[in-house]
Amino acid sequence: MEPKFVDKNVIEESYAAIGRMREMLGGARPRYFIETYGCQMNEHDSETLAGMLELIGYVRTDDRREADFILFNTCCIRDHAEKRTFGNVGFIKEIKAENPALITAVCGCMMQQREVAKRLAARFPFVDMIFGTNELAVFPQMLERVMNGGRVFEIKEIDGEIPEGLPIKRNEGFSTFVNIMYGCNNFCSYCIVPYVRGRERSRRPEDIVEEVKKAVNEEGFTEVTLLGQNVNSYDGGIKFPELLRLVNEVEGLKRLRFMTSHPKDLSHELVMAMAECDKVCEHIHLPVQSGSNRILKLMNRRYTREHYLDLIRDLREHVPGVEITTDIIVGFPTETEEDLEDTLSLVHEVGFSAAYSFAYSVREGTVAARMEGQIPEEVKKERLARLNRVIMESANGANDKYMGAEGEILIEGMDKRGEPMMFGKLPSLKMVYVKGDESMIGKYYKVRVTGTRFNSLAGEIIS
Ligand code: SF4
Repeated sequence: MEPKFVDKNVIEESYAAIGRMREMLGGARPRYFIETYGCQMNEHDSETLAGMLELIGYVRTDDRREADFILFNTCCIRDHAEKRTFGNVGFIKEIKAENPALITAVCGCMMQQREVAKRLAARFPFVDMIFGTNELAVFPQMLERVMNGGRVFEIKEIDGEIPEGLPIKRNEGFSTFVNIMYGCNNFCSYCIVPYVRGRERSRRPEDIVEEVKKAVNEEGFTEVTLLGQNVNSYDGGIKFPELLRLVNEVEGLKRLRFMTSHPKDLSHELVMAMAECDKVCEHIHLPVQSGSNRILKLMNRRYTREHYLDLIRDLREHVPGVEITTDIIVGFPTETEEDLEDTLSLVHEVGFSAAYSFAYSVREGTVAARMEGQIPEEVKKERLARLNRVIMESANGANDKYMGAEGEILIEGMDKRGEPMMFGKLPSLKMVYVKGDESMIGKYYKVRVTGTRFNSLAGEIIS
């Protein structure tokens, strides 16, 4: 499907609205507070919203009590998300009572579910702006309406368009995310994402490369993760392996990562691109979800356990030292002991270095929510505990091979619990703890691994 881009005139009108609000503020610097739930997609949307707020003249605060603008960017993926979000928004009532000029906004995937958004609007009349996932480009116009006394409720039902040219205020650090595509076509039977993020649409390669260059050369990031619900089905005129090769050429970039990969679309070309691009890290996040073919079919994942294991073999053959991380769901409707055993044996067989494990939970509106054979909560809980034990064994076993190995880490920060230690990741995503001080943060060091810790490694700096 040809991607649709937000009309240039709309983007120009957004910048014009930003200019008018700047004037309206007359040099004042109000404060904004953003709370983001869920995945990196939401984080990235929040960075774009922050970019627009800062152009208007707002400055960030981490204290919602002193904020003049509070935004909740919501997620609907996790358990009890609605209850939690409603609870958090409810707390704002008090702050609004103390500061009637406060502007409050709620956006994101949960608000894209119109019925939930309507419930929120009715229950919390003090919320000034409610908008869905397709409204980023018109955020300045919406905010201007609120500044002029209006209330905003905007949720477009159509599949989203790609907004290019909006400012981004990236979260601080040395590693950042660049969106390469939006939406998802896969309709895994348990997942709400295609309903709230729309169909897949890919950005133009030149826009992606420009954004990476800017992040590296103007904003100082050295590690970039290319982001999409299923990056393997990227199609911006070129396919994902070619895009990876293009981005790999960006001068100044040290490390290149990508997520998330769907096993049904992971090609041998991509494995070879990973092998041949010097900046692409030896790590892949490849959600398997289940080791049982029967459950994979019910999940509509469109690959088998055997296919998944073939992919792992291909990756390990061509990308030496590659680490595999994954997502796994237990307690999917009708899951039997035998299905669970298939999942546990797959974890052992692959030797994941880490896995995000979940007990299945119902998402209204999905196919799995209507399936017979829902598993009782206590059974799901018990299965999740068993899975977690196996994951931990697998991850710790995978650490031993690092003893004596050398590699480069990017120091991210200091762990001040006990004796202060600096920590940073190898390209494989393994965390290594070394002695040092805060002047090392953001720099790359060559290290030798001298020991294993719980879920991580200990090392010494060589150079
Ligand atoms: S690939 Fe499946 S799990 Fe991932 S976002 Fe798309 S529908 Fe959801």
